[in-house]
Amino acid sequence: MSDCLVVGGGIIGMMTARTLSLAGASVVLLDQRQCGHESSWAGGGIISPLYPWHYDDLTNDLSFKSQAVYEQLCNDLHNSSGIDPQYQKSGLLMMDEYDSPEAKTWLKRFQISYEVHEKGALFNHVAQVRNPRLLQSLKADIVNKGVDIIEQAQVNSLITKDDKVLGVHTSKGDFFANSIVSCAGAWSSQLLDLESDVFPMKGQMIVLKHQPNKIKHIVLDQGRYIIPRVDGRILVGSTMEDVGFDRSVDAHTKESLHQFAAKRFLELLNVEVEHHWSGFRPASKSAKVILGKDKRYDNLFINTGHFRNGLNMAPESANKITQLITD
Ligand SMILES: Cc1cc2nc3c(=O)[nH]c(=O)nc-3n(C[C@H](O)[C@H](O)[C@H](O)COP(=O)(O)OP(=O)(O)OC[C@H]3O[C@@H](n4cnc5c(N)ncnc54)[C@H](O)[C@@H]3O)c2cc1C
Repeated sequence: MSDCLVVGGGIIGMMTARTLSLAGASVVLLDQRQCGHESSWAGGGIISPLYPWHYDDLTNDLSFKSQAVYEQLCNDLHNSSGIDPQYQKSGLLMMDEYDSPEAKTWLKRFQISYEVHEKGALFNHVAQVRNPRLLQSLKADIVNKGVDIIEQAQVNSLITKDDKVLGVHTSKGDFFANSIVSCAGAWSSQLLDLESDVFPMKGQMIVLKHQPNKIKHIVLDQGRYIIPRVDGRILVGSTMEDVGFDRSVDAHTKESLHQFAAKRFLELLNVEVEHHWSGFRPASKSAKVILGKDKRYDNLFINTGHFRNGLNMAPESANKITQLITD
């Protein structure tokens, strides 16, 4: 029996396990596959919403508070695990939308500074992480902190009594705890009968094998983006496909993403596409993050629905849910 059971080992689940552990709780984390291999691995690692004015105040609040601690978090994870999440403030060049009335109002309201260049607005404060590394480093860190990670353990149902959840039935047996936190990402509705249904929004991405320091900033245009990594690799994403849990990738999308990048940087036209993949963003029908206590059970908590911004919002989402649980 532990203090807390965390279901799901993506960025949200592992970050939640970390903050709970830092708050003094004993934590068991269960994942149906391997930690850090789903949406959190598939994402781009931009530490900002793409067009922040498209989002509600909760998303913006979680983003701002997370952005404020991200660099320190990555330093701490690097020190604890020996794995560098490669946090860098590479800046984001936005080629469209920044001068729309909606954007201008938002930028003024939050006093966000930017430079106007020939090709668009440069937001120097926008950072990125190398998310697969962040996840490896976070996993090692929480193990160091005493979190008990159990992988290949699919949570099939809750064990309940009156208004309490006692534990969960999994493919590796039953686990019991005082509090349960569901961080099951796009699979959340399969596990819990959520009022505001969570569903997968597939995104396809490619990575090009370029050379370091050729492209400086993240570039965003027409909802698609180009992310330069420190080793010269260039990520290009992404699609929005409401097709259920279909992991397949297609040649047309691969070509279209490559063309998108080559149109903005001609030098990328003949650069090899090294890899092409997809992931399932946890979208919610209400278009809101679902962060709080379940209505039916006193000790069941939910942290999901982060859609396109889970890597960005994870630190503060984890703090908020930890406060609720420890209160
Ligand atoms: C192409 C793409 C690009 C993106 N780019 C960005 C970006 O640049 N910046 C950003 O902030 N966000 C980005 N995102 C979104 C971000 O990746 C997600 O919001 C975030 O990863 C969600 O994290 P999560 O932990 O909720 O989900 P996941 O990482 O999917 O983790 C959920 C975990 O729960 C486990 N699980 C599910 N059901 C069960 C069960 N029944 N029992 C046990 N375990 C279970 C799964 O195995 C999985 O490991 C992107 C996403 C995609 C797909």
